[in-house]
Amino acid sequence: MTLTIPFDNSYAALPDVFFTRQAPTPVAAPELIVFNHALAAEMGMTGTDDPRLAAIFAGNDLPAGAAPLAQLYAGHQFGQFNPQLGDGRAILLGETVGRDGLRRDIQLKGSGRTPYSRGGDGRAWLGPVLREYLVSEAMHALGVPTTRALAAVRTGEPVYREGALPGAVLTRVASSHLRVGTFQVFAARQDSKALSELTEHAIARHYPDADGPRGLLQAVIAAQADLVAQWMSVGFIHGVMNTDNCAISGETIDYGPCAFMDVYDPDTVFSSIDRRGRYAYANQADIIIWNMAQLATALVPLMPDTDAAVKGFTEDVQAMATQIRTAWLARFAAKIGIATPRPEDAALIGSLLTAMDENQADFTNTFRALPTGKARDQFTDPTAFDRWAEGWMQRLEAEPEAEKTMRAANPAFIPRNHRVEQMIEAAVAGDDAPFHRMLEVLSRPYEDQPEAEDMARPPLPAEVVPATFCG
Ligand code: AMP
Ligand code: MG
Ligand code: MG
Repeated sequence: MTLTIPFDNSYAALPDVFFTRQAPTPVAAPELIVFNHALAAEMGMTGTDDPRLAAIFAGNDLPAGAAPLAQLYAGHQFGQFNPQLGDGRAILLGETVGRDGLRRDIQLKGSGRTPYSRGGDGRAWLGPVLREYLVSEAMHALGVPTTRALAAVRTGEPVYREGALPGAVLTRVASSHLRVGTFQVFAARQDSKALSELTEHAIARHYPDADGPRGLLQAVIAAQADLVAQWMSVGFIHGVMNTDNCAISGETIDYGPCAFMDVYDPDTVFSSIDRRGRYAYANQADIIIWNMAQLATALVPLMPDTDAAVKGFTEDVQAMATQIRTAWLARFAAKIGIATPRPEDAALIGSLLTAMDENQADFTNTFRALPTGKARDQFTDPTAFDRWAEGWMQRLEAEPEAEKTMRAANPAFIPRNHRVEQMIEAAVAGDDAPFHRMLEVLSRPYEDQPEAEDMARPPLPAEVVPATFCG
């Protein structure tokens, strides 16, 4: 059959200042690694047995209705403003409105150079493509808002990083690719016409009930407050929370150097380029507020009364800390079995986390083991857990459904970093079986899967992967 994608392209209908029309650059020998049939069906695609899937999702063959373009954006990278970034290695093919009524972008990543490539080659290698495919789908299964993965294709061409590596293209699906940086670029150019059109587009697309720029800001703040609390509750470290990697939709985007923590330590950093720990696990709450301040700054020029706008927007950004604390408390309270949190529960959770930090407890396995009585085994000094558990047991007397609450909040399976690296090594050597197996196990992270115990095991000292790279 012929692949049919019911395109309905709204971004391509915006004025030219928002993007450059650009087709993907064909590759030598497309070979399909994986295709997400369930997602394709949700998006309204038919004919997904088309033998041209590899060619289409490598960028060699354009599907009917596509309007390929590279999006313009700016961004603060590690706190430094870069006035011009943009899709340097990604092409938006277009949008679909699915059976579920949801509008989604279809974007090829690693599909060749664009006018925004700067010095880059416009390509991606297999490692980061499989990492993003696996981790974004794992996040979705964990219940965390995220971009999705539709396809991964080998290009049959080398990509040069530290030596030659196999090239690949990822097809990313997102409710949009609007970023904080998309607003920043037009604010920096003092183009209030574009800024205002972008704001209207974003509101219509993501927050139809939002009232003007301030309503948009408040809606993004609410979504991002919840998102960062969810990241923390599964031990996720994004790694590169630049404002160009911060989605207006509130979805997790850009899985470059991200990783999940094994042993709990709030100072954990994986990204090799994050030398000062700006994006460390526990800093993520402060950084998202900083990012929202940048969005607020970009939106102020749209307001008729600047002084009043600065005052109001500042209040909204400052109020975010409380929203994050509330979201954090709800998520972590659930992890210890509390469905109706009280303010004082924050101290109870905090003392567990401190004990976990002091006793090298595995984050995921400690919480997962709470209902079984075996959580203490995760601590170098199990009596540290026992001391904490006395107060916890008392508190749970008011929570009849504690066990159910915990099981729904504490996954057994996360994409452990050493497993991701082992999976990539195998794929580079031509063996995709570990990728497919991990994808399958991680699609049901809250179920016990006795045959997948090895995937729940923390790394042995020799297996620890201390650093991740952007690819
Ligand atoms: P990231 O750190 O992945 O968010 O990327 C930051 C910017 O660099 C974005 O504008 C990307 O499009 C661009 N970029 C990253 N890798 C490449 C590449 N290999 N070729 C061209 N542009 C790239
Ligand atoms: Mg990015
Ligand atoms: Mg520490």
